[in-house]
Amino acid sequence: MVSPMSAQVPYAAPPPARPDAGPVTPMMAQYLEIKAANPDCLLFYRMGDFYELFFADAEAASRALGIVLTKRGRHNGDDIPMCGVPVERADDYLQRLIALGHRVAVCEQMENPAEARKRGAKSVVRRDVVRLVTPGTITEERLLEPGRANWFAAIARVRESEDIWVYGLAGVEISTGAFVVCEMAQGALGGEIARLEPSEIIVAASVMEDAQAGAVLTGAGPPVVPVARETGEVSNDRRLEDYFGVATLDGFGQLTRAERAAASLAISYIERTQAGQRPPLSFPQRRGRGEVMEIDAATRANLEITRTLAGKSEGSLVSAIDMTLTPSGGRLLAARIASPLMEPQAIAQRLDGVEWLIAHNGLREDIRLALRAAPDFARALSRLALQRGGPRDLASIREGLTCARDIAAVLNRAGDEPPVQLAQAASLARAAPPALIEHLSGLLAQELPLNRRDGNFVREGFNADLDELRALRDASRKVIASLQARYASETGVKTLRIKHNNMLGYFLEVPQAAGENFVQPPLNATFIHRQTMAGAMRFTTTELGELESKIASAADRALALELDLFDSAAARTLEQAQAIKDAADALAMIDVCASNAELAVRRNWSRPLVDGSLTFIIEGGRHPVVEAALARQGKAFVANACTLGVADAQAGQLAIVTGPNMAGKSIYLRQNALIAILAQAGCYVPAANAHIGAVDRLFSRVGAADDLARGRSTFMVEMVETAAILNQAGLRSLVILDEIGRGTATFDGLSIAWAALEYLHEINRSRTLFATHFHELTQLAAKLPRLVNLTMRVTDWKGEVIFLHEVAHGAADRSYGIQVARLAGLPRVVLERAQHLLAQFEDNERARPGRIVDDLPLFAAAARTTPAAQDAGSPAVLEALAALSPDEMSPREALDALYELRRLAAAQK
Ligand code: ADP
Ligand code: MG
Repeated sequence: MVSPMSAQVPYAAPPPARPDAGPVTPMMAQYLEIKAANPDCLLFYRMGDFYELFFADAEAASRALGIVLTKRGRHNGDDIPMCGVPVERADDYLQRLIALGHRVAVCEQMENPAEARKRGAKSVVRRDVVRLVTPGTITEERLLEPGRANWFAAIARVRESEDIWVYGLAGVEISTGAFVVCEMAQGALGGEIARLEPSEIIVAASVMEDAQAGAVLTGAGPPVVPVARETGEVSNDRRLEDYFGVATLDGFGQLTRAERAAASLAISYIERTQAGQRPPLSFPQRRGRGEVMEIDAATRANLEITRTLAGKSEGSLVSAIDMTLTPSGGRLLAARIASPLMEPQAIAQRLDGVEWLIAHNGLREDIRLALRAAPDFARALSRLALQRGGPRDLASIREGLTCARDIAAVLNRAGDEPPVQLAQAASLARAAPPALIEHLSGLLAQELPLNRRDGNFVREGFNADLDELRALRDASRKVIASLQARYASETGVKTLRIKHNNMLGYFLEVPQAAGENFVQPPLNATFIHRQTMAGAMRFTTTELGELESKIASAADRALALELDLFDSAAARTLEQAQAIKDAADALAMIDVCASNAELAVRRNWSRPLVDGSLTFIIEGGRHPVVEAALARQGKAFVANACTLGVADAQAGQLAIVTGPNMAGKSIYLRQNALIAILAQAGCYVPAANAHIGAVDRLFSRVGAADDLARGRSTFMVEMVETAAILNQAGLRSLVILDEIGRGTATFDGLSIAWAALEYLHEINRSRTLFATHFHELTQLAAKLPRLVNLTMRVTDWKGEVIFLHEVAHGAADRSYGIQVARLAGLPRVVLERAQHLLAQFEDNERARPGRIVDDLPLFAAAARTTPAAQDAGSPAVLEALAALSPDEMSPREALDALYELRRLAAAQK
């Protein structure tokens, strides 16, 4: 059984029928049976022009959609709650339900009432669930965001040894057919899910029994659907072989056991939700361990890679660099940024493409012009395969393929051969099947309806039979017009009109007064009365009736023929599914490449060098998002260099960045992390020069983001994340720590920051940037050889602080807190008093030159001393400490308290 883990709705099953409560109607019996088979979904039960919901489903849906809850019939002696949505507006309602995390089983009528009656007067229309609509399996254009992939993740695990489990993750994007797999240890699960940003997580139920894995999955955000193994289920390999129609799995690039388990789980979920329809998936594409940069979920969130901390895509890294012109290009760009590469040669190949398109300015413009015409045809293909496509999807395929050929031709025009990736894309684009383009162009009319059932999408002249039926249909319509004229003149009623409605079909209508004559001889011999309205009467005639059936049958036959033509065109299209997917992928790739080239030209970005060293040298680096935001306000961004080791000998350099609040520390830290991501994603970077030894793991702990939703204090979160960094970062990692220790009392915080820095220097040896307001930490440079001090330059102008946003070597001489407070508008007396106090504190400080650094043994030495052996501190200090309530203090107050504590401590000695 499957049940959604998200808190939203337990779709309570309707109460079972009680034998004493009277007979259950056949329809209700059918409903109850279908509902019992889909307990985890809202059941949309088709009744004519409506989908109706009953019982708890009706209550949940009426609440969620704000639609009226009514009653229909009785069950066990009680009224049955009911609500309904019109079929033609079902998409809107589905969209809202999906957005709220609901799942919907769509149950259709599989025959018309006449067919049902043939089986007996009391038979109910046969109904079946044709599809489960879930957040991760939608394909409708209106339900999807164009530039954003919509993945679902399937997670399984296999035992590797006695107590070691390996996790497999399969990601499927049904709307485009993308299919990826990878395997990992439990610790990396959260990061891999964050990379994919799935809208639904399917998981083997047994995994949820593992408390840790369960917590990672439920904490990931999207709804989690645990699936229990059913007895007699086919093996994982069998399921995959069967889906892809291959005899063995050898072609799948040696998927591991965990990967196959996850892939098979994904397939079984598709089979269940699509009710047997098979979207054209690519073979599972395997990503080996170590192929891409690992970025944990917290780091992704902190660096605002695809979304800002507020959850918006605007303001994220991806949106700041996205100059793609097609939705699939936008999706590919986001995917590349989510998975920066490790292999220098693969990175260089992407960069070669960008460089070439920068060099070929005119060509790039032509390509971008052509790209503007490219529709989202990968998604159109999936809809067609799932029998959900319409005439516009066929048109989309035709235009997409045409565009692919146009762009291939543009690339061909270049005097020199494009670099390998562009050349490959060009050859795939060139292979877009011309016969299919021609067929679809011949088939499709200029104006296309959304729905194929609306007909009239086949071009005149494409099919002789169709043209004939249409002529008949239209000619009969002309005959009706002449009939109206004839009747009008014969009866002398000029206002006589022939009209049509669904109830009566064709009829003629005359004013009441004239109508009275029609029911008298001689007119009543021709005119047969049908209806009397207020002020009008309606009639028909034998001739009109005959004409009507002629028109109806011609129109019906025309539509049936159009639908046949649609089906055969769809089948022809699907035969070319691989070529179409290739062309779509090629266009997306060219789009991304051209987007990056365009960006590099417009913003003066440069080609980074990524290699296998441990170097990290950035000259003239900028923050891509902040620079663009400042540019919009007409302000300049101050570029800054960053060097964390120029050769492997200096591997593992750490830099402490100090400077007052608002000086630009956080921006500086992030920009260097973002440049590493961009470089390894194969993009040009916002820097004059960048040389980066490929970063295998990126860690960032920035700011103290609130995490109250998960019930953890911000300090706890900060520590959990810091622990993750200290436990995992290595020689190839890049670590960004911003204001660690800020969430607790000053001494605590300082001590934790101090110890963490020592550990990073001695044990992790990662390239590290560490911004801090603890000036004491700068003294560490005297003891740790690979640690340098950087500071954000500021100047004082008439007592006001001016931020230069410039990074310089050295430590900040003071914190400028009071100047910042002045900028913030604190009352003047408070500022003066603070200035006075500060002067006193600083005097005290100078009176006792004992530097804190001398009092503290280095990490290695400290580790040997037991905590009990350390000085417990003097009573006055302890008293003062106990009196503090760190959670209520502002940073300024905390700093003041720190000075005060140090003064007390000094006085005691
Ligand atoms: P800090 O972390 O030191 O408190 P931030 O990094 O948050 O400071 O930066 C504060 C503000 O200063 C930013 O919002 C930005 O507007 C501006 N800023 C930061 N760095 C630069 C820069 N290099 N050039 C121009 N403005 C900058
Ligand atoms: Mg900051």
